Amino acid sequence: MAYESVNPNTGKTIKTFHELTDAQLEAKLAKAADTFESWKHVSYPERAKIVAKAAELMHADVDKFATHATLEMGKLINESRGEVKYSADILAYYAKHAEAYLAPVKLNPTEGAAHMESSPMGVIFCVEPWNFPYYQLARVAGPHLMAGNTIVVKHAGCVPQCAIEFEKLWIDAGAPEGLYTNLLISHDQSDKVIEDPRIAGVALTGSVAAGRSIASRAGQFLKPTSMELGGADAFIVLEDADLEKAIPWAVWGRMYNAGQTCCASKRFIVVEEIADTFLAKFKTALEALQPGDPMDETTTHGPLSTESALVQLLGQVDVAVKHGAKVVLGGKRLERPGSFMEATILTDVKPDNPAFRDEFFGPVAMFFRVKDEAAAIALANDSDFGLGGCVFTKDAARGQRVATGVDTGMMFINNIDWSDAELPFGGIKFSGYGRELGDMGIQEFVNKKLVRTHEMAAPLV
Ligand code: NAP
Repeated sequence: MAYESVNPNTGKTIKTFHELTDAQLEAKLAKAADTFESWKHVSYPERAKIVAKAAELMHADVDKFATHATLEMGKLINESRGEVKYSADILAYYAKHAEAYLAPVKLNPTEGAAHMESSPMGVIFCVEPWNFPYYQLARVAGPHLMAGNTIVVKHAGCVPQCAIEFEKLWIDAGAPEGLYTNLLISHDQSDKVIEDPRIAGVALTGSVAAGRSIASRAGQFLKPTSMELGGADAFIVLEDADLEKAIPWAVWGRMYNAGQTCCASKRFIVVEEIADTFLAKFKTALEALQPGDPMDETTTHGPLSTESALVQLLGQVDVAVKHGAKVVLGGKRLERPGSFMEATILTDVKPDNPAFRDEFFGPVAMFFRVKDEAAAIALANDSDFGLGGCVFTKDAARGQRVATGVDTGMMFINNIDWSDAELPFGGIKFSGYGRELGDMGIQEFVNKKLVRTHEMAAPLV
């Protein structure tokens, strides 16, 4: 069963769902395309009424949405509540700003007058991951619906109830049928959707493997894509860093969402002068976390999203150790029911270790000691990924210098990778291309049309 809610805290199946038949899928695509023909003519204020209403409904029912997320993928309940509120804020943000972001832009040709218009493109197909089961949906729904597109969404197989709740939200907000459509479909059906001439663009957030598959298929049909893929973000600590501030960020950066965040801190790169102190304090802080039921507000260490995610992570740790890594903390599954991984620190991961280039999607930190700032930048850049990263230092100029030197889509100084509705989010290299959120996020799937007026006689042939 491809769409299945299983509580990772207990291993118990909550509910299973059937995939759409091809005929059902066809009807949903036809409806989305039909709705686009009217929605593209709806004014920004009228679109904003529906999108802002959806935001209001999410804010009014935080616990309902949050409980589904915690039961389906194990996120700590307070983190789920925070995610629901933030998702609603993203919707409200685009309801407010879309018209200004997509307003015509005057150009200055040497002769005549010209401007750029931004017009909607059609039905956008979005493929989304389970790790932020509402936020990822809000990141595509807010901008693309406000731009005048309609969207069809394939959510991850382990969060069908979140997917269905989010689709219902739009109906409750007064959206026409076909504006936002959840598709419970297989990967083969997803390929057919990408090929379908009614689909104007494809947005994916997920793994590199999914990116390769989906971008190449979209490429064959010359469809624009945006790719938000994995990351192995560096957490750089210079010798002048304030460890009282850096350590709590290190814990949060690695352990938030049980470590299952694309832009989580995954490689801790510390200048040798303070490396031992940092490592000892980091280890002590991770040891203090309290595993437990993620529905319990006192729990600080929840399960991974699924048993298969845990098995995969344990396998990656085994490979790392076989190739010379040392485990200074954790490394095993927790002895309790559910899919829990011990908070883990690996050291001595050398460049010939497969782990060196891997993404650990869970509570596994890789620790590296380096000679100085230049070595920290070089190591941060020795990665196939380029999503985000951060640097801790008391010297603002050094912070800026390191931020400029690291090749990623985002850098953070004295705090860690996080997103805000108004700030563009995305990466380079195997972390993908394109940006979500902010002004840039709404520009991904609009037609930028040049319109020029120039009263002149045609040249003689
Ligand atoms: P995943 O396996 O790639 O799944 C993500 C989504 O893609 C799911 O809906 C999945 O559906 C679908 N999918 C995968 N392969 C597909 C294919 N060949 N055809 C059609 N659909 C396909 O990723 P994951 O392991 O669940 O999620 C974690 C990954 O996402 C990590 O690498 C993480 O870093 C990345 N991520 C990136 C960002 C960002 O903004 N850059 C944000 C969050 C997560 P099924 O569940 O049905 O397989």
